[in-house]
Formats: sequence, structure tokens, C-alpha cells
Amino acid sequence: MPPRGTAGRGDRGAAALQALVAPLRFAARDGFAGAGRLTGFGGTIRAAVASAGRAGAPPGAALAALAAEGEAFDALGPADRRRALQRIAAHLASLVPVPPEIQALARLGRVELAQPSPSGREAAGSAKAAEAGGSAPPAPGRGPSGSPEAAREGPPATPADPAERSRRRRMLATPLAQVPRAHPAPRALLEERGCATVEQALEFLPRAWQDRTAVRRIAELRLGDEGIALGEVSYVRPARMRSGKPLLKVGLSDPSGRLELVFFNPPPWRLKQFATGQALLAWGKVTEGFGGRRQMAQPEVERAEAGDSASFGRIAPIYPGPADYQHPALRRLLKRLCDEYAPWTVDDLPPEVRRRRGLLPRADALRQAHFPPPGTDLLAAAARATPAFRRMAFEELFFLQLALALRRRGVRREPGIAFDVSPAARRRALQGLPFDLTPSQRAVLGEIAADMGRPEPMNRLLQGDVGSGKTAVAYVAMRLAVGSGFQAALMAPTEILAEQHARTLGRWLQGTGVELALVGAQARGRAQREARQALASGRARVAVGTHALLEEDVELEKLGLVVVDEQHRFGVLQRARLIRKGRRPDVLVMTATPIPRTLALAFYGDLDQSKIAALPPGRTPVETRVFGDSQRKKAWDIARRELEAGRQVYVVYPLVEESEKTDLADATSGAGELARVFAPAEVGLLHGRMRADEKEAVMERFRRGELGVLVATTVVEVGVDVPNATVMVVEHAERFGLSQLHQLRGRVGRGAARSHCLLVAHYGRAGDEARERLRTMARTQDGFEIARADLRLRGPGELLGTRQSGQPLLEVADLYRDEAILDEAREDAFALVETDPDLSRPEHAAAGEALRQRWAGRVSLARVG
Ligand code: ADP
Ligand code: MG
Repeated sequence: MPPRGTAGRGDRGAAALQALVAPLRFAARDGFAGAGRLTGFGGTIRAAVASAGRAGAPPGAALAALAAEGEAFDALGPADRRRALQRIAAHLASLVPVPPEIQALARLGRVELAQPSPSGREAAGSAKAAEAGGSAPPAPGRGPSGSPEAAREGPPATPADPAERSRRRRMLATPLAQVPRAHPAPRALLEERGCATVEQALEFLPRAWQDRTAVRRIAELRLGDEGIALGEVSYVRPARMRSGKPLLKVGLSDPSGRLELVFFNPPPWRLKQFATGQALLAWGKVTEGFGGRRQMAQPEVERAEAGDSASFGRIAPIYPGPADYQHPALRRLLKRLCDEYAPWTVDDLPPEVRRRRGLLPRADALRQAHFPPPGTDLLAAAARATPAFRRMAFEELFFLQLALALRRRGVRREPGIAFDVSPAARRRALQGLPFDLTPSQRAVLGEIAADMGRPEPMNRLLQGDVGSGKTAVAYVAMRLAVGSGFQAALMAPTEILAEQHARTLGRWLQGTGVELALVGAQARGRAQREARQALASGRARVAVGTHALLEEDVELEKLGLVVVDEQHRFGVLQRARLIRKGRRPDVLVMTATPIPRTLALAFYGDLDQSKIAALPPGRTPVETRVFGDSQRKKAWDIARRELEAGRQVYVVYPLVEESEKTDLADATSGAGELARVFAPAEVGLLHGRMRADEKEAVMERFRRGELGVLVATTVVEVGVDVPNATVMVVEHAERFGLSQLHQLRGRVGRGAARSHCLLVAHYGRAGDEARERLRTMARTQDGFEIARADLRLRGPGELLGTRQSGQPLLEVADLYRDEAILDEAREDAFALVETDPDLSRPEHAAAGEALRQRWAGRVSLARVG
């Protein structure tokens, strides 16, 4: 390399080269944001080199290298451009004086130039996948977003030979314990996390990434900076702290300055780790040590060697978990698994899907998720919006949708019941309803009746906001079934709700000659024996109950329609059991509150969907206000005013299992206090520990208006319909979820009178999320908007009530963020089942295997009808 200043021979030559400084600076600004927008820079370089030559600059290695970079530059992708710009800066700095920012770039370029070339490394590594935008020529069939698949080296993503696939699946299922030379410490960490096999370890994804590409000169590391220093070990000095505890000090220096690395309580291996003269990389935070010396305490260190490091000179992964999970050895182990095993993972996505959507092959996605390629946008990575995560989110959603598509197709092919849904039958079914259906209810009923009239089983989800009148729709559907000679059953999540439904439906059925039986939790007692008998003999045509309906001794003579209310409280198996009581009855599932579109598609995607869009007439908006603990009196004043106007009031206390006793005490003492505050109005208490008949007695008194105030501990126990109630006070509102609060609010505003929802929050214990929840409540009354906010704040598990199952339904995909990916995955999965229902074509065989093996467990968590 010619010494600096060679080009100074001719000022014109130097000026030509210095003209490259401005575009370089532009491209490198803001983390290389401008690199992609640099057009024709290759030509500019070539022109500069040519004009420098004409001006008399002697030909040399640096000028030739610069010319070569100029030839290649314009065709490079963003990641490669970044590295090329660093190299260009290095060559340029060796030819002409350059400003400091370009010097900084040049240093990075030199680090890279000193390493063996990436392509050389790839060739040496046995089955390593080429990094994105590698050197292979683009092949036909690249996906729309430039899938790098074509540029991939190594084994085929989805081998056509089943034996090869199963060999490779077995390889990925290798227990970590059998991975040769795997460091036991990180292995134990992974096993602790339930990652027992290589594949499970590869799926243990980082939670964040650190940009460790930039190696800075020691002099440039300022106090407080976190960064990498590269230097030579100048001394290794064991010492003691004033407390007597051992200490190890290691001097690190480069031509620009020096730094002291300090290790507290060094273990024996640490004392032997360093030797003077050794080239060492250190990552840590620069602080001020004794005597103003700059130091790095407990830095992460690594010998500087040519080759691919897991922690330095790259974007390094940070794993979820405490400090030990950040151990470099964990990174090294995962790097090895990415290099040696990931290329052999079988890509289960059908190749045509992968191509159409421009998805990375699974091997590359895994590798890049752990070790993002250089130039990866760190913000995108933090948001998990990189191609690697997109691919994995797609895969997850695709297999979930594939399972739903197959299930839906399976149900369709079972023989079902074709009910009579003629206009005359529909007119008869409406009998008894005390109001006209709203247009929205009528539309939904049209969809349900069309299903019921067809000989395939109905499997439909009915969504509607609280109070939108789902029960009336269910009533008409049940009447249709009964009119065709079948029985209909409605399953509710609690006794109180079952009783409420029985009362409502019973009232509407009066005078129609259709008998209803309410199945209670206890099979004992004369009334219960009679109810069960009436259903078994077929005298009663409508059954209403809780889980009790599922009991062995509840027999139905001719079950034709099952309506499940407030569906997500029921387990999948419970529903299946009820369905088995009939000859494949039709199923209508009703949600308690709306669920966001993505959630409905992801987990009820095998059901046809109906939505009641508008509330029945005569509703008034509920005024919602949030009060701090100390402002409770204001809430009470509002409640008292309403009581004096002859209205009724709910006061709800939270009940969480861990603190059931204190919560109950809260509610009980609250009821006592409220009795004084609201005297002479009568206050009743309803809680989960009461017997069913006690609860019912209290409810009945409230319904009749004898109680002015109902104090209750749980949400569902107040899932009742008392139009005269106009105030809902929620104590400890910060402890309720959004959809619970929305449910509670739905209990008022049912009559024409103006209603109030008063949320009393104890902010002392609440976080930002709780505040946001309450703000959302105050802002909107739209159940779908609230459901979406709930999804964003709490995730799907909470909304679906599956959090307890311990296994997250989705690990990578985010139903709030990934709606577009879900739509694509759904479209592809349903299309696949349409063209190849048994997944019997060779190109779909891998997907079928994956569905049965890898995805079976998780898929079964999604609902089945
Ligand atoms: P949901 O179960 O969807 O929360 P409900 O079925 O309990 O709602 O209905 C709420 C209230 O609205 C009930 O009092 C019900 O009688 C009444 N309602 C339902 N449909 C109509 C309608 N078309 N016209 C007037 N009132 C209606
Ligand atoms: Mg309801």
C-alpha cells in the first residue's frame, strides 16, 4: 500500500479523489441511511480514479482497489454497500488526507480488510449459508421482495426425499447434551429454559441486539460510552481491593491511548486468560477509575483473531433472561448451532408459498434472527420487523391457519342437519319476541338461517358488542331448530347467567307451547330430576345450563343446535363433548365482548363469522369517568343522586384468586360502608362463595328493585339485565382488564335514562398500562376499538383466557402488529387446502409432517367446534 500523500504529487489528482469525500459522508450519515440513495457512486469512483491517474498519481494497490470497488458498487445491496463504503474510505484515507468522520469509517474498513474475505470464510465452513446478498449470481425465481433464497448455498431448504427429511429432522432433534464440545454452562441455561434439543435452542430467540460492528480507537472512547476497544494487552496485574477482595487489572493500549480492564473476584481461569502482547477485544462501558484513569469494569473480552466472532465485529444478540444469559459462551454455542445445524433444518413451508411471499428459508431466518447480517436496521430488529422475523411469524400463522382450514373442511364434509328455514318457519320462530329485530340482527339471522338450512353442519361465530342483542338472535335460531323437530341447548359460563337466559327465553317462549328445562349444577333435588327427565324424554325442547349440560347423566332426545354463550370461558374439549350429545348438531358460538379481527381469524378462523354491527334502539351513551382513590366521594355523590331519582347502582370489587380473602373482606366491608353512605337505600352483597340459591335470592331482590345497590365481587355474576340500573361503580378499576371493564359498563345504559360508569382507581399500585386502559375506557365506547387496545396491551392469551395453559399460542407473531402477515398466511393456507385437501402432493408433504409433529400441540390450543 503506498504511503499516504502519494497523490499529493499532483494537486489535481488529490482533488479528484477528495471529491469522493462528500458522497461518502452523505452515505454514512445516520447509520448509513444514505447508502441506499447513493446513485451512480460507482461511476463517480471510477471517474475519480481515472482523473487521478491522468493527473499523475502513480498506479498502486490502493488506487487499483478503489477502482475495483467502483466497478462493483452500484450493484450492491444495502448491507454490502455499508461494508464497501468502509473499505472505500480505507483506500481513500491511504491516498489523500480525509476529515475525521471518514477516518473513522476507514478504520472499520481496515478491520475488515485485515480479515479473510467473507466468501473465503463461507467456502471454508462446511454447510454455512451465504449471508444475505452473497456473491452467488441471482437466479430466476427470486421472490417479489428479492428473496435471497437463490443466493443461498448449502443443502436444499426442503428436500424432496422423505427419508432425507426425516434424517434432517432427527439431526435437529439432537439433544443438546449430545452436541460435541458444547460448553456445559450455556447448555444448562438453555435446558433450564426448556430447550433440550438443537432445534429448540435455535428457537430461543434474542430479545434485543447490540451493534458491535464499530471498533473505535481507545482515545475516542469517551467516559460513559459503551463500546468496543481493540488493543494489545500491555500488562496483567492481580491486585486487591481495599476490602481485601481479589481484583485483576489488565492494561489495553492502541497507538491512540490506553485503558484499564478491571475484573472483580476473578475466577482461576480468568487469571490465566491474558498474556501481554496479545491482541484483545473488549466490550463494556468506559468509566473513570482511580487517578482519573479510564477503565472498563467487568468487560466482555475476546482474543482478536481472524474469523467470525459471535460477539464482536457484528450485531450481537442479547438473550432474554438475567445477566447469565448474556454470557459470551451462550452466544458462541448458538452461533455454532446456527452454523452447523441450522442449515440442515427442513423448511416446512411449501416452496411456492415461500417464493410468492418472498420469505427467507427457515435456515437463514433462524441464523439471521440470532445474528443479523451487517447493515441490519437495529430499530427494525428491535421491533422484530426484519425479514428473519417476518418469515418466522408467517410460518407460525400459516400452520395455525392450515390446521383451521383442514378442520373447517373436515366439518363441512360431515353429514349435518338441514333445518326447515322457509319463510313460514322463520315467521313462526320469531313468535314471542317482544320487539322487532334490528336490521343488524336480521342480517345476522339471515346468515345463520342459511347455514341451518344446508345439510352440512353450521359452525359459526356470532360477535356483537355487549347489549347488542345476541340472545334474541340465539332465541330465533333455537326456535328454528325446535320447529324442525329438534332440541336446542344453550350453554352459559355461570349459573347466574344460565338462570338469566332461562328466564329471558322462558318469557319469550310463553304461550308457544315449547317447554324449557334449566339444568343446574347439582343433579340432586326433585326439580333437577324432572328437568333432566324432560330433556331425555324429549318433552322439553330447549335446554339451558352451565357445564352441567355436559354431565354424563344429561341426555338429550334429539339435539340439533348448540349455542355457546360467552365462549372463551369454555375449554375446547367441553364444547366437543356437548356436540357429541347430538348427531353432529349445528353450532353457534357467541362471544361476550367483541374480539379484534386478527384474533378472530387466528383462533376462530375455521368458523364462519357474523357480526351484529349496531345496538338496539333506545340506548343512551354511558358517561364514563375515572376517579382517583381520594375522589371516591364524587363518585358516590353521582350514585346517590341516581338512587334518589329511583335508579339502581352496581358497585363491583375485583376478585383475584391469590388474594381472595382480602378481596372478599374489601367487598364485605365496602358493602357495610356503602349501606351507611347510601342509606336509606338497601345494599345487597353478591360474591362467589355464596350458594347458588343465596345468589339467586339477592339477584331477584335487585331485579325487583328492592335493593338499590348491588355490591358484587366478580364480573360475570353481574352479567345481568336490569334496565333500571344506571350507575356502575368499579372499585380498583386498575385491576380489571379492558374487556372486563367494557362488559361491566355494558350492564348499564340499557334503558333510556342517562347512565354512568365510574371507575375508581388506586393509582398507587398501578402502572402506565393501567392508566392507559382507563383512559381508553373514558375515550371510547366502541367494543371493537376497545378489544383492539386490549390486544395491544395484553396480548391474545389474556383475551382468550388461555394464559393459564402456560404455552403461548404465538411465540413470534404479534396479532396487533402482524395483521398483513396473517392475511397472507391465511390466504395461502386456505388455498392450499382447496387444491390439495389431504396435503398429499410431494411439495406439500413437509408441511403435512410439520403440522402433525411440530405444530400439533400448539394448534390444539386454538378452538375446535
Ligand atoms: P348481549 O347478549 O348481546 O349482550 P342481550 O341479548 O342481553 O345482549 O340484549 C340486551 C338488551 O337489549 C336486552 O334487554 C334485550 O331484550 C334488548 N334487545 C335485544 N334486541 C332488541 C331489539 N331488537 N329491540 C329492542 N331491544 C332489544
Ligand atoms: Mg349476553
